[in-house]
Amino acid sequence: MADPVLLSSLRIPAVRSRPSSTCLQWSADGQVFFVSNSAVYILTPHHAGIHPGCNVRGDKETPCTLQWSRTIINLEKRDLRDWSTGSQEWAALSLGSFDFHVKDVACSPSYVTEDGGCVAAVLSSNMDLSLWSASKNSIQGEWIKASVFDATPFLVDLVSNGASPPVLSQLLQAQITSIAWSRQADFAIRPAPCTDASLLAAGSRAGTVCFLRFDGRVASLHHIRTVRVSKKWVTHLAFSSWMHEGDFQCSGLLAYSTSDGSVGLAKIHLMAQNATKDFGTFNPEYIVDTAFEVTEGIFSADQGGTTALEWITSQERMILVRCRPGAIDLWRNQSVCSWSGIRTLTICPHVLSVGSSELHPVTGIVYVLQEDILLVSLFDGTMRVIHKVFVDPQWSSESPSSLNSQCLSEAVRRIFVGTMQGIEQEEVTNNDVNRISGLISFDGCATLLWTQQSFRPADLSWKIEARRDAVLIAAHLSRHVNWTGDNFFHELKEILTSSQSAYGVTPSHLLRPVFLWLSELPDLHVDILKFLRSLPVSCPSQCHFPPWSEGLGEKLRGKFRKSLVRSLFGCDKLLSLRLRLYVTEALSRCIRTPSGRTECIQVAEFICKMISHMTTRCLLRHLRTVVPVLIANDMPFVRRAIYLSSLADSPPAVQSAARDLMDAISALQPPIVSHARLCGEVAMTEPCPACGEELDTTATARPACPNGHLWDCCAVTSFIMATPMVRSCTGCKRKSFLPLSRQSEPAMPNWLPPMAQSWVVEELLEASSRCLYCGNNFVSIV
Ligand SMILES: [Zn+2]
Ligand SMILES: [Zn+2]
Repeated sequence: MADPVLLSSLRIPAVRSRPSSTCLQWSADGQVFFVSNSAVYILTPHHAGIHPGCNVRGDKETPCTLQWSRTIINLEKRDLRDWSTGSQEWAALSLGSFDFHVKDVACSPSYVTEDGGCVAAVLSSNMDLSLWSASKNSIQGEWIKASVFDATPFLVDLVSNGASPPVLSQLLQAQITSIAWSRQADFAIRPAPCTDASLLAAGSRAGTVCFLRFDGRVASLHHIRTVRVSKKWVTHLAFSSWMHEGDFQCSGLLAYSTSDGSVGLAKIHLMAQNATKDFGTFNPEYIVDTAFEVTEGIFSADQGGTTALEWITSQERMILVRCRPGAIDLWRNQSVCSWSGIRTLTICPHVLSVGSSELHPVTGIVYVLQEDILLVSLFDGTMRVIHKVFVDPQWSSESPSSLNSQCLSEAVRRIFVGTMQGIEQEEVTNNDVNRISGLISFDGCATLLWTQQSFRPADLSWKIEARRDAVLIAAHLSRHVNWTGDNFFHELKEILTSSQSAYGVTPSHLLRPVFLWLSELPDLHVDILKFLRSLPVSCPSQCHFPPWSEGLGEKLRGKFRKSLVRSLFGCDKLLSLRLRLYVTEALSRCIRTPSGRTECIQVAEFICKMISHMTTRCLLRHLRTVVPVLIANDMPFVRRAIYLSSLADSPPAVQSAARDLMDAISALQPPIVSHARLCGEVAMTEPCPACGEELDTTATARPACPNGHLWDCCAVTSFIMATPMVRSCTGCKRKSFLPLSRQSEPAMPNWLPPMAQSWVVEELLEASSRCLYCGNNFVSIV
């Protein structure tokens, strides 16, 4: 095996971490959640020279290729619930309140909050559940508790069913001992409905699992169902991926483990249904019905208990991985496959230091699809590799060139020795144990990310305890066996053309492997550019909506916004273009030659234009529908949309949609704008916010007035931004006005310029919760 390559070592001082397979996890926004004893660290990698934060520099630890930004979720002890107020019984007390710490985190899918981000469910040792989301800046800013909502009182109210105080058996149902959040489901509806179908499962001390769904609009949870699965505590939960079952239906499995070590399954069915019976004016809205059935147990009670529970998926095939001290059990039920039922692999001892033991808990489970291998890390810093997982799982492999447990463990140990000697300036000996408390894959292959902590079991001095730092390591442990440019292009094409908007995953999460390779494969840059240029573009066909007939009001605005969201962010072809743009812009930063950079910029401009034509076309279609309720205030924006769509380089479909809209507005009685004003070039001029001189906003990206005042234009509405109430894209840095709903106090004046004070502009800003160009999330400062 080739030597491991260290990409980054980020030190997180004075942190005690807990061994668990969920200690490190990726959110669908491309952030790493690291669960330590006292806080949850949220780390964001910088890709290919792109700093995702606002303007602040990231952490600089070592001169490695990969850098990080970070922020934290701080759980305060004063927030913990006193369970004795609900019941005086001994059984209701929580010992976790004495040694208060973060126990687990479950990240929601992305695109569930109002600003298109994730929510983190945080479980404390006191069995309190709380929900957290970013207030303004998810990368470097503060994460706050969902303000109007606290999950534990909600659960107590739920179980007590109106009776107060709740009896002991009810209170135990509100004491949460394990959590898991499912991924988003794809019902194969296009454009994707952008309806949250994901479920938060909360296992309790009473042996029940409570299924909840997050409502981003009001930042609260809805109770879906509580299912009793056991009489013991529910200690582990793991959702499988959703499988599409046809006719707007999906199904998935929730595996649960209880305190006696037994494991069982609950089957979940999701059905998407039209929210209203009649077909309305806009894109139809959907609601998700959910049904449950508890099926048989898989593993019976086991003395050691479960230490990790996870599903691995390969092309619609699934295996449940259950770890217990000294063994790994695999379970699979599809009988048509090469194996089914239970396979148990006993973990052999592997001594790397004085603390090595095969009985340590498993702290990371990584499945590498390309090679059909399962990498497993133990708390003692050793690694194990299971080969041919879906064919015939076994420890050893016939091929001498492939990864094996011994050499992978030694590679991890070499990195530990190298990095610790750099930090501690002491020699690392056999007495130093490398505690790996969590391990995940960085790129879906064997570029791994783990947390290491040095520990000397024989040294009892307080100094060692006090100096406990966690180090987050990213390293290539092995390349694909047949790693070539062809593989890279195959993977790139797969991501660019097959990614589905229904999952709501951000481009920065999807493209992380590509960005890693971009900086490491400079020889391929010219070919990558050729490839990006050669990918075909197709516009989805669009049918007309019937005109709106019910007048202007909240009902129209809500439907208009939801329909826009679905058209702008539920379209796979638009997502594919956004991914291409993001790769091209990243490439322009990595490419060495000036001519290559110029060419990159040309390709990026071309893709930008395509995106802008597709979004304008969907906007024109929505505007055409609401012509009967347009008013004079809406005209400056409508004129801009018409002007930009009528330019010579617009595709015929966009030009004809603009003409259609123009004719419909001209036919309005009484007229709200003259035909001449509707299509003239004057559409793009705007008074300078400083001196009032007219300035043309089409000329450059940053227009200047005759007196030299320079302005940024909003990437969503094209109006000049002379306000601090703006947001900036974490991917491409384009800026846009903050939607008016983000006002921190009700009395705040409208920050949109007078020309943009139109309900259409307001709803477009609300609908654009992500960047229209590269599809990433926004962050704001104010
Ligand atoms: Zn001026
Ligand atoms: Zn962007």
